[in-house]
Amino acid sequence: MRIVLLGAPGSGKGTQAKKLMADRNIPQISTGDMLRAAVVSGTRFGQQAKAVMDAGNLVSDDIMLGIISERLAEADAADGFILDGFPRTKQQALDLEELLDQMGTPLNAAVLMDVDFEILMKRLTGRRTCSLTGKLLNVYFSPQEELDECTNAGGELIQREDDNEKTIGNRLDVYRQQTEPLVDFYKKRDKLKTIGADGSIDEVYERFQQALA
Ligand code: AMP
Repeated sequence: MRIVLLGAPGSGKGTQAKKLMADRNIPQISTGDMLRAAVVSGTRFGQQAKAVMDAGNLVSDDIMLGIISERLAEADAADGFILDGFPRTKQQALDLEELLDQMGTPLNAAVLMDVDFEILMKRLTGRRTCSLTGKLLNVYFSPQEELDECTNAGGELIQREDDNEKTIGNRLDVYRQQTEPLVDFYKKRDKLKTIGADGSIDEVYERFQQALA
């Protein structure tokens, strides 16, 4: 199964992709995670990407095409994948379409995670990762026991550098201007499935699976 996940930053793409990855044994390919790994590695490219990401802007389409074509050629993506955070522009969507056509493996679906603006803001400003386990948490939505479990074990609740209010505002603008048009792009190709992404992780996952059935 080859899926694109569409949705604003904070709509829960990463969380749902991870659940589907575990259930269906196909990789979650998060271009944001790949770029963050490049930042940590401290290469020249990583330093450039960091500046773009910290401002909430997009890395160029050419670079993203290079990254995604290499990744999709890896063995674990042969039986399917969940793209999380790619494509983000019309050009990237066209590039992906061409790439998959060449590989003879077209997309099955683009799933749009539709969520209320106020919830998005809370999901983004409240998002934390436990430094010990890597678990994704949220100071507004996670049960207090789960937050305590991390800190009591000596872990820290770390906030992503681009999850501050200023950068979030720009990321949402960039989403509206550059990524939202992809909803129509996939609708025209009869690939779009929309799910309500408000509610608990399990409720949303249930809708996600129904959309893919
Ligand atoms: P994410 O983790 O998906 O929210 O991505 C974090 C940041 O990485 C974005 O705000 C962009 O700066 C960059 N990024 C991730 N995916 C892409 C993409 N497909 N095209 C351009 N920039 C991207």
